[in-house]
Amino acid sequence: MASIRLRGPHGRKAESPHAPTPEGRLVSPPDHEVRLHFKVLKPLPGQLAPGFTPAEMLEAMRKVYRPNGIDVALAQPVQTLDCPLHSILHVGGCALHHATAEQEELFAHRDNVPVDEICVYFLYGLVLSCFAGCASCASANGFPYGRPAAVVTADATVWTLGHECGHVLGLSHVGQPTNRIMLGTTSRITNPAVLDPTEVTRIKGSHFAKPVVAPLADGGQDPPGPAMESAAVALDMDAAEALPSKVGRDDGLADDIRTELDRDDGVDYERLARELGPSAVHSLRTVLLESRPRIAAGAASLSGMIEGGRGLPVVDEAAGNDDSLVRSAAAATAVRLPVDPATRIVERLLKDDNIAVRGHALRSAARIGTPRLRARIGVIAARDPSPDIRELAARLLRESPESAA
Ligand SMILES: [Zn+2]
Repeated sequence: MASIRLRGPHGRKAESPHAPTPEGRLVSPPDHEVRLHFKVLKPLPGQLAPGFTPAEMLEAMRKVYRPNGIDVALAQPVQTLDCPLHSILHVGGCALHHATAEQEELFAHRDNVPVDEICVYFLYGLVLSCFAGCASCASANGFPYGRPAAVVTADATVWTLGHECGHVLGLSHVGQPTNRIMLGTTSRITNPAVLDPTEVTRIKGSHFAKPVVAPLADGGQDPPGPAMESAAVALDMDAAEALPSKVGRDDGLADDIRTELDRDDGVDYERLARELGPSAVHSLRTVLLESRPRIAAGAASLSGMIEGGRGLPVVDEAAGNDDSLVRSAAAATAVRLPVDPATRIVERLLKDDNIAVRGHALRSAARIGTPRLRARIGVIAARDPSPDIRELAARLLRESPESAA
């Protein structure tokens, strides 16, 4: 049993197992392997091109993991997925062990990928937390250690793939130093990113990192991984430093909100909205109007969560934004507003040209659940030009109970 595994555990050859580093420095053969399966969602019209290709992010991830004896293998072929309704994905708060219904629908697209290998979905953006990426390891039938999946958006940095996979592999955020891959804001990582020894140990104990050389002592049995409890990561660890101490009620508030929203993940939007309160609405509008789409979408999401519906003007404005991610955020966050303005915003976005935006508006319409909106959903189930939207509308009507509202 003490054989070196030259091929992946499922007979496919792993890529470049003994490559020298770009600097020509030879590194020892890997003792663990993480296998990734890329699934790229087809972009919708009008969506901005991603800042980095999956191949560039994979190369950056390998530079971080490989010097620590962890090979990152990419299964072939890379799959293209035609899932227009999920190109902007509702991840809620992006909890590692709890997936939203929409995440579960997308993550069901695995095509027999083994339960201990990670599927990575490349798509346009996320709501209601408008993160650059999201890691998931939620329990699912047939997945003894949870279903390992990562989502990477068009706004990701070159490090986001390695960062999100780090979460799947059991890592939490670190606050510093600034060359660590698990920094909450990967755009601030100083090149090259690294793992520290405790992180390497943790990854090698994960169910999703496989030993490449079978151990001599125990007849080739894989060492047991850590219990799921110990693998649980607190995604909001450094979000806990959040706003009150850092944010002054001055002209810098918009900048501070932008900085917070620029984190790859791990921002607790609900908490942030509570801390900001109604007096921050003007600054949220500034962020909406003066930021790139992911950050603008984050400002829209937060505005819907401001107490008493006071963020309504910002959500209203977001519903007319040029970018489909920002409009999707408005559609998703509208359910947090009082029924009348929420209904008006949702009805407007039910007519959106973009199918992902219509999908989010539909789900919000079902959640608001008034007779008027249910009637609209019924019309859409019969008449929308998109079969995906018609099917979603029909399903939402079946699934959502009639509201007394
Ligand atoms: Zn993170």
